[in-house]
Amino acid sequence: MPDHATHVTRMTVLRVLRHTPFLLTGVVWLIAAIVSTQFPLLHVLGYEFSLLMSLCVAWVGTPALLYMSRRFMRLPAISPMRDVMREWLLLSGAMYLLLLPPVAVMTVNALFVRNCAPLEGALLYILLPGLTLPFVVALAILLRGLFPKRAGIAAIVLYMLLQLQPLIEILARPQLYAYNHVFGMFIGLTWDQQQPPLETLATYRILTLLYVVLLLVVAAAVRSLRSRGCLDASVRRSGVVFFSALLLAAGMTLYGDVLGFSNSMANIRRHMPAHYTTPSFTLMYDSAVVSDEEIRWIAEEHEFRLQEVVEELDVTWTRHIISVLYTDREMRSRLLGTRGSEVARPWKAEIHLSRESWSASLKHELVHVVAREFGPNYIGVPFLRVLGLTEGLAMAIEWDYGNRTLHEYAAAMRHYGYLPSVKRFMSTLGFMTGASSVGYVAGGSFTRWLLAEYGLDALKQAYSSDDIEGVYGRDFAELERGWHGFLEGVQRKDSDSLATAWLFRRQSLFTALCPRVIGKRTREAAALLREGDAGKALRDYEQLERLAPGPAPAFGKVQALYQLEKMDSVIAYTKRLLADSGRAWSVLPVLLWQGAAAWGKGDSAMSDKSWTALIEADLPGWTTDRARRLRLLLREHAFDTELRDIMLASLRMYSNADSVRHAMAGAVLRLTGRRPCSHSLYREALERMAAEEPYRDSALTILTSIPEAKRDARMWQLMGMLLYRRDRAPEARECFRRAASNDAAAGRDIETWLRRCDWKERVLLEPQDFQRVETRTHTFD
Ligand SMILES: [Zn+2]
Repeated sequence: MPDHATHVTRMTVLRVLRHTPFLLTGVVWLIAAIVSTQFPLLHVLGYEFSLLMSLCVAWVGTPALLYMSRRFMRLPAISPMRDVMREWLLLSGAMYLLLLPPVAVMTVNALFVRNCAPLEGALLYILLPGLTLPFVVALAILLRGLFPKRAGIAAIVLYMLLQLQPLIEILARPQLYAYNHVFGMFIGLTWDQQQPPLETLATYRILTLLYVVLLLVVAAAVRSLRSRGCLDASVRRSGVVFFSALLLAAGMTLYGDVLGFSNSMANIRRHMPAHYTTPSFTLMYDSAVVSDEEIRWIAEEHEFRLQEVVEELDVTWTRHIISVLYTDREMRSRLLGTRGSEVARPWKAEIHLSRESWSASLKHELVHVVAREFGPNYIGVPFLRVLGLTEGLAMAIEWDYGNRTLHEYAAAMRHYGYLPSVKRFMSTLGFMTGASSVGYVAGGSFTRWLLAEYGLDALKQAYSSDDIEGVYGRDFAELERGWHGFLEGVQRKDSDSLATAWLFRRQSLFTALCPRVIGKRTREAAALLREGDAGKALRDYEQLERLAPGPAPAFGKVQALYQLEKMDSVIAYTKRLLADSGRAWSVLPVLLWQGAAAWGKGDSAMSDKSWTALIEADLPGWTTDRARRLRLLLREHAFDTELRDIMLASLRMYSNADSVRHAMAGAVLRLTGRRPCSHSLYREALERMAAEEPYRDSALTILTSIPEAKRDARMWQLMGMLLYRRDRAPEARECFRRAASNDAAAGRDIETWLRRCDWKERVLLEPQDFQRVETRTHTFD
């Protein structure tokens, strides 16, 4: 026996540490840290490593704690409350010492793997394992008192239940994260590169400490009842502390939504208090931000897209869908736990979109929801074996992806060597650890090929049994041969090398350097830019660029320089970036700002060259189209400083983007009043006016006044879109037909518009119930 103490007060932390179970615990924790140095994300002192250590504290530390508390119980008792406190301090002290070696390992490892935020990492280590520890110690003391012989089994059962809590919370409530006293915080499975919100986590840990107090008082009470059959005076004196802690803990749990530990539909309703109902949807949104006209358009799009998906998947759909339209990504990040991703919760028939990006992914998310009709695993999506099929089906039905088809992209990926094996992007593990853009696009192309090759029924069967190889009776390698054979025949677009590299040559979340820290700081700097503090933003971006040179800090730096009107610096810096063959492919859109800076300096030849290079790269996204429009104006109005200033200002970042866009539409419209007005200026004015509701009627008037022979394909399309908005579906259809015959390349987009017109005509014939309901409830705020 290493200790000869006759009472717990004579024990010391060092004596506790001399017991073999404690030494073993320390060794296992140390090994866990050493092994972690070999795995990405775990190899720095940060969120993932801290989470792992929290789990180690609970699962590995508890046997030693139970062993030691049994020894303590054999010692003579003096006062239950004091004994329990003393034991808790001793055991916690010993365990804290054991938490130091893993941190030392990570500190040494920082010499080999850069840690971008060591202080934040240290804080997370304190907030996660550092505060799991006192909770686990108090729990062990209580369990030993409650179940003297079966404390180990009780601990295992309890931890299992606590481990299930995030799963249950995420399934039951509209949130992708979960707070938990054992491991602190589960940040959720999204592609977001975000850090846990430290303030919320710290607040939650106050609740953990309150639980520690409660557990300790109950442990003392149990001990007192067992040994004396009544509550000892020392326990009774703790009553005030106990009930205060209980009251506080209850309050914090009750207000969990407000404090950010959890989310609920009621909480969402507080932020998005207006409802708009249609036959199949209830849209939740904020009517202070979204106008009546806008919400009607969004609601109609929901119905139209749903009908498309239902037809393409050939299901009967009767459920009502809740669609939450978050005011911005920031709000969605705070409430739901994801900033960058649109989310579907098929088992609840819910989709969670943000106002900035709903239209691009509405159809995709609806596929997830509707496929619930034949989906597996309770939640209605394959994820145990072939998670790639979940996204593959959504992409295959959505099919829109920038300016190439998914087959064209997959063929290009194959050509340039970015295409992983089918198993690598369809199997659950492969899909989760690969780069998301690769997984989505390759999965979409492969699934679409399966659909064309083997039909819808087989695909639905594979989806519903979460299994591809079994259902098709072929292994991945064999299916891959068939798909590759098909890709071989896909006609690729010219000049797709840059676009392919730009989209797919990215690192996955698991191989990038400090992705969470860089992601968070980049967003903070972008917020500074929007608020107009470009100087500070520039310094932050430069610091980030030194820390982890990647595309995001480079884009940020270009934008900050541009905002500061340091046009020479914009040109010099973008030239340097693009001359570096190791980086050029990842920052191509900077050509847009390079061209703008050159125009600002009066070098229209250079502007033309920069924009032409960007247009030829043909990247998906708004920059290509913007470069096209700018080049058109430049070629006709290179020396019109008034127009130039408006166009260049529109590339800046604003906090009030809506009203700035609105004002710019007005400014460009005024310029068209000058005689003579060029075709390109009309085009630009119409483009801007069509996007702003108060200008839509004038835009339509101008378009109507332009002789038919002079309207180009885009003008016909804009006219069709405006007429559609005014419920003039037959006329709109005629415009889209004219657009398609003027420009064969407009293809897919026009096809969708034509289908939209058909849908609208049907709705107009048998009017449905679309209505807005305002439900402002002020419960908490
Ligand atoms: Zn998806």
